[in-house]
Amino acid sequence: MTETITNWAGNITYSAKELHRPYSLDAIRALVAGSERVRVLGSGHSFNEIAEPGPEGVLLSIAALPPAIDVDREARTVRVSGGVRYAELARAVYAHGLALPNMASLPHISVAGSVATGTHGSGVGNGSLATSVREVELVTADGSVVTVGRDDPRFGGAVTSLGALGVVTALTLDLEPSFDVEQHLFTELPLDGLDLAAFETVMASAYSVSLFTDWREPGFRQVWLKRRTDQPLPDFPWAAPATEKLHPVPGMPAVNCTEQFGVPGPWHQRLPHFRAEFTPSSGAELQSEYLLASRYAVEALRAVDGIRETVAPVLQTCEVRRVAADEQWLSPSYGQDTVALHFTWIEDTAAVLPVVRLLEDTLDAFAPRPHWGKVFAVPAEVLRGRFPRLADFRALARELDPAGKFANVFVRDVLDG
Ligand SMILES: Cc1cc2nc3c(=O)[nH]c(=O)nc-3n(C[C@H](O)[C@H](O)[C@H](O)COP(=O)(O)OP(=O)(O)OC[C@H]3O[C@@H](n4cnc5c(N)ncnc54)[C@H](O)[C@@H]3O)c2cc1C
Repeated sequence: MTETITNWAGNITYSAKELHRPYSLDAIRALVAGSERVRVLGSGHSFNEIAEPGPEGVLLSIAALPPAIDVDREARTVRVSGGVRYAELARAVYAHGLALPNMASLPHISVAGSVATGTHGSGVGNGSLATSVREVELVTADGSVVTVGRDDPRFGGAVTSLGALGVVTALTLDLEPSFDVEQHLFTELPLDGLDLAAFETVMASAYSVSLFTDWREPGFRQVWLKRRTDQPLPDFPWAAPATEKLHPVPGMPAVNCTEQFGVPGPWHQRLPHFRAEFTPSSGAELQSEYLLASRYAVEALRAVDGIRETVAPVLQTCEVRRVAADEQWLSPSYGQDTVALHFTWIEDTAAVLPVVRLLEDTLDAFAPRPHWGKVFAVPAEVLRGRFPRLADFRALARELDPAGKFANVFVRDVLDG
């Protein structure tokens, strides 16, 4: 490749022999049919080699496809091209008086890339972003167009698919009537004395709840409650109301963050932590995240607390969220309600990796599933044991892609060992 292409964080440089940005569906079909090895690059916000096709492969970006966003008001659905980012999708959906049920911390990520890795927001009743998807349209290895909808037995593998089944050119998503959200922030929630029932009460006290800590001290520095204005105002005796606007990373200016202090606003301007019109940070960070059964939430947090003196020096912030169970075979929340323990690290891979390994050893008893798009070191054979429907996914990948055209090293490790 003459161009140097990196991911958003800059810790991965793709080694593909060619980068293509086709303008039409037919061009994608011809390119895929005529290539031996292909990986699609979404908005490049993953922190590992999940999108890396290898030096003999082709990297394909669909960002140049005409960005279709077709809202069907009656049916309350939207059909969107895979390369569209949530920020543009949300604006279009809102203009029709409709809403997506949830969003990730930032809206700059592509729809197809996000659901491919199981990207999620928070909320005891909110599944990952993939749970809104009702149909995906794929260009598969031989260049055919395949549509897989919810009534298709293959659907469980088709959305959170790690890019291993083909090029997702369009998706249809369920919508709901638009709603408003207020953000109420609190500070200093102790971990000491917090049992599982209390933790669950905290996490269920608003539509979407996030806890943040830098682990320099025990407990949580910040609590973000995102309350739907059509739901009751929670009584929140657990922590003190914030007295200034806050950024999840202590000391960073809150100017890039969505409106706080209970000012109501439309869902897409409150559910993400970061405003669509700002780039949230320079990319000077790495991220890891582990999702485990929510019944272990407090035990797992205490375990992390036990190593906080090692974690804190390489950590910018840790976010704790709740994600509802879903049915996508490779989803980190497959079959169980989960607590998601997220870590924004400093950008120093050599310093961070040993801490990632220690963290994984510390959490091992809770069988955590890593976020597919973030840094992890869990051995493939351990990982395979944590996804009970992996064999079904492997069979689906072989059906749609018998020669493994879309299977890079990352995917082969997971599927085959
Ligand atoms: C600042 C920041 C904040 C984040 N916040 C959150 C968060 O709140 N919650 C969370 O869960 N995650 C979060 N993430 C992680 C992020 O959501 C995932 O890494 C997600 O996959 C990014 O989407 P992308 O389009 O950039 O994917 P990429 O990194 O480009 O690709 C990811 C995977 O999707 C595949 N893919 C992409 N597009 C297609 C397509 N059209 N067809 C087939 N396969 C495709 C790729 O091949 C690859 O396997 C965050 C990341 C960053 C950098």
